[in-house]
Amino acid sequence: MANDCHFHSEVISVSEQTTKHISHLARTIPPSGIRRYFDIAQQMEDIVSLGVGEPDFMTPWKICDAAISSFEHNTSYTSNAGLPSLRNAISQYLDQRFGTYYDPDHEVVVTSGVSEGLDVAIRATIDPGDEVLTVDPIFVSYAPCITMSGGVSVPVPCLEKDQFRLTPDAIMERITPKTKALVLNFPNNPTGAVMRREDLCSIADICVDHDLLVLSDEIYAEMTYEGDHVAVASIPELYDRTITLSGFSKAWAMTGFRVGYLCAPKELCQAALKIHQYVMMSAPTASQYGALEALRGELDDVREMIREYRLRRNMIVDGLVRAGLSCHMPQGAFYAFPSIESTGLSDIEFAERLIREAHVAAVPGSVFGPSGAGHIRCAYAVSRSDLSIALERISDFISSL
Ligand code: PMP
Repeated sequence: MANDCHFHSEVISVSEQTTKHISHLARTIPPSGIRRYFDIAQQMEDIVSLGVGEPDFMTPWKICDAAISSFEHNTSYTSNAGLPSLRNAISQYLDQRFGTYYDPDHEVVVTSGVSEGLDVAIRATIDPGDEVLTVDPIFVSYAPCITMSGGVSVPVPCLEKDQFRLTPDAIMERITPKTKALVLNFPNNPTGAVMRREDLCSIADICVDHDLLVLSDEIYAEMTYEGDHVAVASIPELYDRTITLSGFSKAWAMTGFRVGYLCAPKELCQAALKIHQYVMMSAPTASQYGALEALRGELDDVREMIREYRLRRNMIVDGLVRAGLSCHMPQGAFYAFPSIESTGLSDIEFAERLIREAHVAAVPGSVFGPSGAGHIRCAYAVSRSDLSIALERISDFISSL
C-alpha cells in the first residue's frame, strides 16, 4: 500500500523525475541511425532489408559445436586478456595472413566484439580535448565513442572521386596541434573502399611527422575482393603507433558470439587491457572457444562465403547502375554505396521513401558522416533471390520519381 501511495503521488512528474537522473552525455548522444531503419523494417511486412550489416549465413557448424562443447569443461571467466590458446591462434593468424606479428602474451586482448575493442582503444588513448581524425564516412560507433572519452572527432572526407580512399591532402588540411590520433577503417563500412599499400605508405609519413596514433579497424580484412588486404601495422613506420582491431562477426558470420580482438605494441595493449578488465572482465568464454575453432584449418568456410559475397557484389552494382544510379565498385566488405543525387532527393528522403513505397530498407549515407550525404548504403548480406527482388523494386521506385 505504501508503495502504491508513493507511486501515485509521483505519477505526474514521473517522466521528469526519471529524466533528471539521466546524464548529460546520455541525453545528448544521438541513437544509432542504422537501428531506426531496422526498426521500421521490422514493423512492416514484405520488406527486403539491405539495411543491417549482418551476414545472412549461419555460423559454420564446427564453430558452434566447439562453443557448445566448451560448456562441458569450462564455464568460468578466462584470463582478462582471453584464452592463451586463442591469443596464440590470433597471433599466428595475423602473422601468417597479413605479416603482422603480435606477442600473444602481452600484445593481444580478446574483446567482446570490435565494438568493445574500439571503445577500449579510444578510452585508453584519448584525453579530453584531443582531436581524433576519423575517415568519413565510417561505421557509426566511432564518433560517439570519441565523444564519450571527451575527445573531438574530426571527419576526414574520403570522396568518391578518390574511390573513397583516404588521401594525404585530406589529412593535412585537418591536422592541428591538438590532433592525437587517426581512425582508419578499410575495407570500409559503408563504402567498401580499400587502401592499397601505396596509399598507406603515402599517409605513413604524415602519421610519423605529426606523431599520430593510428586506430585501424580491420574487421572486413578477409572480405577483400581484389588482391590481398594490406594491414596497416604491416607498414613498418606505422607498426609501433598502431592499434589493430578486428574480429569474427563478419567473415565468420559470428555476430552474436560477441568476440573480437585488439592488438598493439605492449604498452598500448596493456593500457587497453586495464580498461577491458574493469568493464568486461573477459570476453564470453564459450565464444572464445568458438573463435579458436574458427582459426583452425584452412578457412574454407570463409572462402566459400566470400565467393558468394563477390557474386552478390557484382550483381548489386550492376543492378543499381541499370536502375540509373552511379555506383562505385566496392573492393571489400559487403556494402554498395551508390549516389542517389541524380534523383533530386536527399539520402534521408530517398531511404524513407524507398522503405515506405518500395519496401526495401537501405541506410542513408549521412548516418555514417557528412561525406556520406547523397548516398545510400545497401548491404548485400541477403540471398541472391532477395537481392534480385530488391533491385527490381529499387529500379521501379526510381522510375516512379
Ligand atoms: N567495426 C565496423 C567497421 C563494423 O562495420 C562493425 C559492425 N557493423 C563493427 C566494428 C562491430 O563489430 P562487432 O560485431 O565485432 O562488435
